[in-house]
Parts: sequence; C-alpha cells; structure tokens
Amino acid sequence: MRTPLVAGNWKMNGTRASVAELARGLVGGAGSISGAEILLCPSYIFIQEVQSLISESSIGLGAQDLYVAAGGAYTGAISGAMLVDAGCQYVIVGHSERRALMGDSDGVVARKFAAAQEHGLIPILCVGETLDERQSDSTLAVIGRQFSTVVDAVGIESFENAVVAYEPVWAIGTGETATPQQAQEVHAALRAMAATRSAKIAADLRLLYGGSVKAANAADLFSMADIDGGLIGGASLEAREFLAICAAAAA
Ligand code: PEP
Repeated sequence: MRTPLVAGNWKMNGTRASVAELARGLVGGAGSISGAEILLCPSYIFIQEVQSLISESSIGLGAQDLYVAAGGAYTGAISGAMLVDAGCQYVIVGHSERRALMGDSDGVVARKFAAAQEHGLIPILCVGETLDERQSDSTLAVIGRQFSTVVDAVGIESFENAVVAYEPVWAIGTGETATPQQAQEVHAALRAMAATRSAKIAADLRLLYGGSVKAANAADLFSMADIDGGLIGGASLEAREFLAICAAAAA
C-alpha cells in the first residue's frame, strides 16, 4: 500500500512574510486531510522559518537540492547534514531546472541522491523528457537513462527509501499538463524498469507526477494506477489550491 505524497516545490519564490502566511494557511487546512502525506520544499533561506511554523502539524519539510559533499570549502553550497540539522526529511534531486540551468548531469544527480541518503534524507529523484525528446519518440529512452544511471550507482535497494517524480519538461510551468494516460504510460514504464531489479521495491516505490498540476486536473491524474501523488510548482504557492490538490490525492 503506497501512501500518496504531495510535495510543494516553492522554487526561488517568496519573502519571509509571504512564506509565513502560506505556511500558516497550509497548517490551518492540512489538519482535515488524512490519507496523503504533505511536504513543503521552500527555498533554503526560508527552511527554518517554515520548520518552526509547521512543527506542530503533520506537514513534512524538504529542500530543493543539496551539494554532494558533507561539508568543507564549497562556497555557497548546502550539505545534506545541514538540511537534516534544519529539520528536513526529504530533498529533491535532478529537477529539470537544475539539470538544464545549473548543469546537473545524470552522474551528478546520482551523487546527490547518494549524498542525501548518506545523511538520512529521502531523495525525490526527478526525471523527465523535453518536448523534442517526446516528439522524437525518445521519452522512455530518456527516462530509462536518467533512472538507471542512479540505480546503477546506488543499487535498487536504495529505492526502498526514495521517491521518483516524473516531470515532463514541456509540462513544467507551462500550463500544459500531460494527460492522465500519457503520465500513466511513463509511470508504468518506470515501475517496470524498477521491477526488472526488484519486484518488491518496484511495487512499493512512490511515483509522483509533476507538471502544471492544479486542483482542476489533480483528481484525474491521481486516479491512475501508478501515480502516487504529485510534485507541485506554481500551484503550491497558493494555500487553497495546494490543499485542494492534497485532498484529491487523499481521496
Ligand atoms: C516543478 O517545477 O516541479 C513543477 C511541477 O512545476 P509546475 O507545477 O509549476 O509545472
């Protein structure tokens, strides 16, 4: 039985005042939602603020990235140890924005996944194809490469304590969502890829969909057999909208 997970990726948005207001609104509404795990991933600079606001609630805390080293002379970087110390349980690795804009290769993503687990964080590994890749029928080859680079590096056993998010790049922040059938096809393929290594781990692995999820389309996406919740960007910045998405996952 996989408990649905809905994670809000706040990206590089907010001010101390706006994130506090958002977190308070979410704490107020989350109490009436059971049956889905809710997670917030604020910008590093707001993690402690959010941690103190959600500490009495069931909402979890995550970060959007980490550096591969545990500590030392890495100006500007944040380690997994620091994230744990600040109260995080999860960390996103391999988001397409980091892959495209900050140069995170498949190999770097695998090292970040391993670093997260070394510190006891649960990695949320993002995979996804660009529009060109979809149009040239390479979606499953791209997803397979991104996923298997990490599995080959860390072993399938590591996915006992990990989450995978399928996020088609063409659907992120564009308002264009994959249809439930398109998303389900990739999720089923991901689960089948994992099952070639371990049927048990594949069956228990939570697979999130991300890409322009809103309250209006969440229920249809989450009704698919292999979609176990969502990684939500834009719609996670509005308490009422995000809570409606969480409620759809819990239903
Ligand atoms: C994301 O960036 O993880 C994401 C899914 O964004 P959005 O929901 O805005 O498409």
